[in-house]
Amino acid sequence: MKDPLIIFDTTLRDGEQSPGASMTREEKLRIARLLERMRVDVIEAGFAAASNGDFESVRSIAEAVRESTVCSLARANENDIRRSGEAISPAARGRIHTFIATSPIHMEKKLRMTPDQVVEQAVKAIGWARQYTDDVEFSAEDAGRSDIDFLVRIFEAVIQAGARTINVPDTVGYNVPEQYAGTIRTLIERVPNADKVIWSVHCHNDLGLAVANSLAAVCAGARQVECTINGLGERAGNASLEEIVMAVRTRADVFPVETRIDATQIVPASKLVSQITGYPVQPNKAIVGANAFAHESGIHQDGVLKHRETYEIMRAEDVGWGANKLVLGKHSGRNAFRARLQDLDIEIASEEHLNHAFSRFKELADKKHEIFDEDLHALMRDETITPETEHYRLVSSRFHSETGETPRAELTLVVGGAERHAQAEGSGPVDAAFKAIETVANSGGQLLLYSVNAITTGTDAQGEVTVRLTKNGRVMDGQGADTDIIVASAKAYLNALNKLQSSAPRLNPQI
Ligand SMILES: [Zn+2]
Repeated sequence: MKDPLIIFDTTLRDGEQSPGASMTREEKLRIARLLERMRVDVIEAGFAAASNGDFESVRSIAEAVRESTVCSLARANENDIRRSGEAISPAARGRIHTFIATSPIHMEKKLRMTPDQVVEQAVKAIGWARQYTDDVEFSAEDAGRSDIDFLVRIFEAVIQAGARTINVPDTVGYNVPEQYAGTIRTLIERVPNADKVIWSVHCHNDLGLAVANSLAAVCAGARQVECTINGLGERAGNASLEEIVMAVRTRADVFPVETRIDATQIVPASKLVSQITGYPVQPNKAIVGANAFAHESGIHQDGVLKHRETYEIMRAEDVGWGANKLVLGKHSGRNAFRARLQDLDIEIASEEHLNHAFSRFKELADKKHEIFDEDLHALMRDETITPETEHYRLVSSRFHSETGETPRAELTLVVGGAERHAQAEGSGPVDAAFKAIETVANSGGQLLLYSVNAITTGTDAQGEVTVRLTKNGRVMDGQGADTDIIVASAKAYLNALNKLQSSAPRLNPQI
């Protein structure tokens, strides 16, 4: 009998802290439902005290998700814990995850607290959290650089106070596998009542070792891994869920654990998260990259045809490749359209909303004959934009690009309800479009990133553009999709401007 390995997904919390990757409540719900279908054990839905929007997102997920535990992060103070407790109250199973820094540098420079005060605060935090739920997790922020004797002391105290899961995060991605496994083994040996709790790991990928460190820790006794879809997360990201799950499954001879995960949901989840955040998946990414199961070299192909196991250690269909079926086309009716949106967990607020979305679907189907799930996600993302969050809107556009001539863009925009015309020249039509927008917006924002990807295959595919703007230290990503990539670029730029305009600054806890 193998031990269960608890998969704790933090795509919606740590993943969302990737620069520019903020998600709406509706988008978070869609991802949460897919994680539930994947049979993720714990979904960290957010940091409820960060803002009212974050609170509402956590609460909506706690209401909607029945099969997975829904968790909210909280700093070790009474207000954060109360907000988390209120946000998870509708959950079938709710968890509060509280944390405090334990490394000398963090205690001294950031918290300005003595080690004794840190232990006292952590114990109080567990007591407050236990008023809302029995399922309380404690994290020692920057455990990877903390003194082992101090970790033993604080963990003993929080277990005594009622913490059920003890997380040992490598917050800055500094650890290496053997040493990290040694830390986990030592803690389990030395902390009194270590057998009464689940030991958890949370590894960052700054040295590319997040998955290796997590798996080494599993061999040393950890029974919960915190991870994200596509390895999304602060800086270089977190351990990637798909790599953890498939390593444990493929090398069942090595790992003494098993997960409950339905791996066929992995590729759909990867695509959904990539599309919502605008973070493309690199082609050579393990499990979910476009090349992960493509055997292009002639020698390999010959081997694969003769006997698949010569080069393949996993089957593409086991992780959900090939599930992207052709769904809709030009002749699909309103009911088929509605049914497919329901299958994809996309919320439709009203009949009017459905009618509007359906007419846009028809326009797209005229330009592009095969409409895939990815196209529907992109279409519906535009549909969730409300007038309150849309200060700038593209009405029409005209671009000129010809050999030997300076590219030019002419745009008609609606800005705060009034129609405005704009034109500019640029080094290319995309540059011209952005300059034209700025003649009207004068945003003062600085362009940090521009990327374009085809949503599906074929030259008639929609181009999906991500534009990252920064202003006054805030970073915002905008997205736009269209079969014309210059139009998609203009939409993405306006989307980023709208987000800079409408969203409030938020807290980013580092664990
Ligand atoms: Zn983290």
